[in-house]
Amino acid sequence: MKITIFWHRRDLRFEDNAGLAAALQRDEPVLPLFIYDSTILDKLPRNDARLTFIFDQVARLAHEAHEAGGGLLVRHGAVLEVFRQLLRDYDLAAVYTNEDYEPYATERDNAVARLLEKHGVAFQQFKDQVIFAKEEVLTKNGKPHKVFGAYAKTWQAQLKPEHDFKPHPSARLFKKENLASPGRGDAGRPTLRDLGFERHEQYTVPASLPPAEVVRHYDKTRDTPALDHGTTRQSVHLRFGTVSVRALMQEANHLNKKLLNELIWRDFFMMLLWHFPYTATEAYDPKMRHLPYRHAPAEYQAWCEGRTGVPLVDAGMRQLNQTGYLHNRARIVAAGFLVKHLFMDWRLGEHYFSEKLLDYDMSNNVGNWQWMAGTGAVAAPWFRIYSPESQQKQYDPDFAYIKKWVPEYGTATYPAPIVDLKAGRSRALDAIRKGRT
Ligand SMILES: Cc1cc2nc3c(=O)[nH]c(=O)nc-3n(C[C@H](O)[C@H](O)[C@H](O)COP(=O)(O)OP(=O)(O)OC[C@H]3O[C@@H](n4cnc5c(N)ncnc54)[C@H](O)[C@@H]3O)c2cc1C
Repeated sequence: MKITIFWHRRDLRFEDNAGLAAALQRDEPVLPLFIYDSTILDKLPRNDARLTFIFDQVARLAHEAHEAGGGLLVRHGAVLEVFRQLLRDYDLAAVYTNEDYEPYATERDNAVARLLEKHGVAFQQFKDQVIFAKEEVLTKNGKPHKVFGAYAKTWQAQLKPEHDFKPHPSARLFKKENLASPGRGDAGRPTLRDLGFERHEQYTVPASLPPAEVVRHYDKTRDTPALDHGTTRQSVHLRFGTVSVRALMQEANHLNKKLLNELIWRDFFMMLLWHFPYTATEAYDPKMRHLPYRHAPAEYQAWCEGRTGVPLVDAGMRQLNQTGYLHNRARIVAAGFLVKHLFMDWRLGEHYFSEKLLDYDMSNNVGNWQWMAGTGAVAAPWFRIYSPESQQKQYDPDFAYIKKWVPEYGTATYPAPIVDLKAGRSRALDAIRKGRT
C-alpha cells in the first residue's frame, strides 16, 4: 500500500502543524517519521541536554501517535542513507515536511529532494515555524530588509491575523483512518544509549504556552532577570516546535504588543540567515571582517565559567552553565562584555552559547551576537558599548539576580575584575576605529 511520510524536525507536535495537516489531506495514509540525524548528533557532547529533551519529546509523540491508532517511525543515521532504506522498506507516494532555514538543513533537504525525485516520490515543504519566511517581507525595491524597524512595519502591514495565525487542522485529522502504522519497517525506537548518549539529569523545561498573566505584564517585567516569570520562557518550545508560533503570536497580538515585537525579531533573524547563510560564520559587514580581536585564552575561560569579577556577567554565565538558559538582559551584558570589554571574536561567544543553550537557535544566536559585535546586517552601532555597571543599576538594582547566581559576591572570595571596564571600553573603541576597513 502506498503511504505518505511526514518528516518531523523542528516541529515536535501534531497540533497546528502546517506540513502534517497537508499530508493528512492526501489520499494515502500518513506515517510520521523522526530521524536522529547522525551528522548533527556526532558533533554533540555525550550528555547534551537538548538530545535528552528531543528524546523525551519523541517518546511523547510516539505515545500520542499510538493512542490515535497509528505509530511514529524513528530512525537513526545519515539522512540520505535513511531515505534510501525507507525507499526499500515502503511504497512511498510522497514525503512532506516543514521548512528549515538553516544552511545545513537547506543543503540536506535539497539532497533529499533530489534523491526522492529520482524515485518519482514527491517532496514538499511547508512554512510552519514563522509567520513570514524567505521573501515574503521585502523592501519596496524587492530586497531583504536590513533595518528591523522597517521590517517589522512591513510585517505588521501585511499581517492578516485571522489567516496568518489560524491553526492548521492537523490534530483533527490525526486519526486512525488517516494514519499508516510503521509495520515491517519498524525496528523500534532507539534508546539514548543506542544513540550513544547519556541522559542529562539537570535540565528543566518550562511549561509550554505561558500563563496569560505573564503575557499581559510582559512589557513591564521582561527586563528584570531576577524574576522567574518575567518572560515567557518559550524559546526552547519555539526552537523544537513543541508550541506553535501561531498560537503564541495570537496570544501576544491580543495581550501584549511588546511580546509580538520580540517574536517578530525571531522571524527577522530567520529571514536574514536564509538570505545570507554565510553570516553563520562571517561578519555580514565587510568592513568589520578584519578586526584585530584579542587572543586571551585565560580571560575567555574566566568568561565561560562566570569568573570575570564583573557580577552581572558572572551571574549570567553561571545561570547558563547550570540551567542551559540565560535571561535576555544577561545575554546582552555577557555578550557585550566579551566582544567589547575583552575585545574577543563574537564567534567564540556564539560557539559557547551554541553548546550550552537549550534554546540554541542558529539564526537567533548568530543574529544577536553579530548585533552585539556591531558586525551584522542589523547591528548596534559599533561604538555602542553596554556598561555592565549601569545595566546592573538599572535591571538588578538590589542585586537579587546576582546574589542568586553568585552567592560569594561581596565576600573576599569573589575575584577582582579581569579587566578595568573603562580601559577595556577604550581599547575596543580604538581597535575597531583603526581595524574597520
Ligand atoms: C547574545 C544573544 C544570543 C541569543 N541566542 C539565542 C538563541 O540561541 N536562541 C533563542 O531563541 N534566542 C536567543 N537570543 C534571544 C533572547 O535572548 C531569547 O530568545 C530569550 O531570552 C528567550 O527567553 P524567553 O523565551 O523567555 O523570551 P521572551 O522574552 O519571552 O520572548 C519570547 C520569544 O521571542 C523571541 N525573542 C525574544 N527576544 C529575541 C531576540 N532578541 N532575538 C530573537 N528572538 C527573540 C524568542 O523566540 C523568545 O522565546 C539571544 C540573545 C542574545 C543577546
